[in-house]
Amino acid sequence: MARERLYRLEAIVLKRSDIGEADRLLTLLTPARGKLRVIAKGARKPSSRKSGHVELFTRIALLLAQGKQLDIITQADTLDTRQTLRANLDRIGYAYYLAELVDQFAAEENENLALFELLDHALTWLGDAATNPILLARFFELHLLTHVGYRPQLFVCENCGKPVEPIENYFSITTGGVLDPNCVATQREHIEGRARDAQTLSLNALKALRYLQTRSWDTVRAVRLSAATHAEIETLLYRYIAHHLERNLKSVEFLRELRQPSVMAERESR
Ligand SMILES: [Zn+2]
Repeated sequence: MARERLYRLEAIVLKRSDIGEADRLLTLLTPARGKLRVIAKGARKPSSRKSGHVELFTRIALLLAQGKQLDIITQADTLDTRQTLRANLDRIGYAYYLAELVDQFAAEENENLALFELLDHALTWLGDAATNPILLARFFELHLLTHVGYRPQLFVCENCGKPVEPIENYFSITTGGVLDPNCVATQREHIEGRARDAQTLSLNALKALRYLQTRSWDTVRAVRLSAATHAEIETLLYRYIAHHLERNLKSVEFLRELRQPSVMAERESR
């Protein structure tokens, strides 16, 4: 279907990079067209006002002109500056992480309103001082995986299909979900990869994963996870995501550095 030569679009800025002498390449998330890359001409010139000056993570309204390969911004208005988010380095680190996840998982030219709304809301919640950013990151990972078609199965055994019992079970990244102890003990030859990657999943971690996967943020935000339960689900989700992306995310390392005790102590002593 032919598009108009000029068209309007709402978007969230996921990534910016410099190209040419003065231009910028922007990676956007849009409700109707999924991920989209566009050019901001002259965005790095001090005189550039109208077309180019868009900040990371902001929600913007654009007027775009069809280009030969990539479309070009002719006008940009900021709808949400994410003002409160910008005041805190920790929070910015999480915003980079959420945006990188979306950049890696979102498809181009693929409508995904749910993913757009998830990111838009999450960036707003992240700016709220009452939000626990670590809990939000786990919530975001689980909901993003649902919206991009990689929802981990947490309710029935991936092998036999029976409802998972409230006991210690196993989780297999290769099969995409929970395996019950009986299947891991007796059915390995029927399981993809012979369940070689199956790792134990504690009942507390299973409950936490299910809760985060199925509830809204309004409910989840009040949850307090023990350090052990959080560490277990963080590691599981990190491995699950890295498996599906077949690579590690840059921003995860940045977040780990932020959480080193020395960095935290230095921040507190200021
Ligand atoms: Zn089973």
